[in-house]
Amino acid sequence: MKYFPLILTLLFLFPALNSIGQVHEDKNWCQLNCNPSIIKENAQVITEIMRDDSLRQLLDSRIETKVFPIRFVLVKEQSFNLTDSVRHELDTVLSQLNEAFKGVGFVFERTRTEVLESAIKLEELSQNRFELYDKFSAAHDQDDILTVFILDHKNDFCTVTDNSISCSRIGGFSYVLSSLNNNIVMSEFDIKDPKIVAHEFGHFFGLYHTFEERLFGKDNFNESDCLTTGDRICDTSPDPGTAFELYINYATCEMIGFKDENGNEYKPILENYMSYYKPCYLKKYSFTKDQEMVMKLAGELPIRKRLSK
Ligand SMILES: [Zn+2]
Repeated sequence: MKYFPLILTLLFLFPALNSIGQVHEDKNWCQLNCNPSIIKENAQVITEIMRDDSLRQLLDSRIETKVFPIRFVLVKEQSFNLTDSVRHELDTVLSQLNEAFKGVGFVFERTRTEVLESAIKLEELSQNRFELYDKFSAAHDQDDILTVFILDHKNDFCTVTDNSISCSRIGGFSYVLSSLNNNIVMSEFDIKDPKIVAHEFGHFFGLYHTFEERLFGKDNFNESDCLTTGDRICDTSPDPGTAFELYINYATCEMIGFKDENGNEYKPILENYMSYYKPCYLKKYSFTKDQEMVMKLAGELPIRKRLSK
């Protein structure tokens, strides 16, 4: 079976306030290959297993811990000295990632660390529907190992005009279960943010955003549809996305009073790795059990298993 690509990025859009006070929100839809029929085929194997309780439990007990060697590539405009302190920082990134993936049974090990001299910036890779990203991956990926490319941002996050300010920052991106490449791209700014690193690895191993609705339709609060709509995960409650962040009380860590058209009140998990919400009083981020199971199953697919040792 072929696994088709889908790219999802983690894009931070800070409130872009114009003269009449509108807040713009980019829900960051899939930006490449958005044909829903193709993507449904992509996720089908995992969904069928998730549907079958006894099969899922059997596999859960049989799948063993997997070690994924990691190759870090620091993309730098000028020559850069790989010091012990840089290597130590990358090891810290992985130890935090390993903590996040404990429940999945994945262990990530820094195996290679390299510097690639190039002036390319993170934003350039995402232009023209990630056209340059595909070329970049083809030129610099290695076939047998998961690579994390770390790129600098361009200098400015904000565009200022006479009456508006618009700011955005891409934290990183990755294809979801794609055979197109074996990499995750992170910004140098966000590689030190354990939430964003775990989020991108979550995509790489098959997870969608908790607020996903474009690809499979909106999560409709109906339990019988939870495997086929939204993020296709049943134990993540419906999430309307950060456009409705005004309904969140970050003191009590809950969304209050926002309902769908049928009167169902949204209670998204704020501290889920695959959401876009801010930390709630530093409440620990986590994956749900079903998210962990989906990643575990993704680790068994040939396109991912071959990257483990
Ligand atoms: Zn994302």
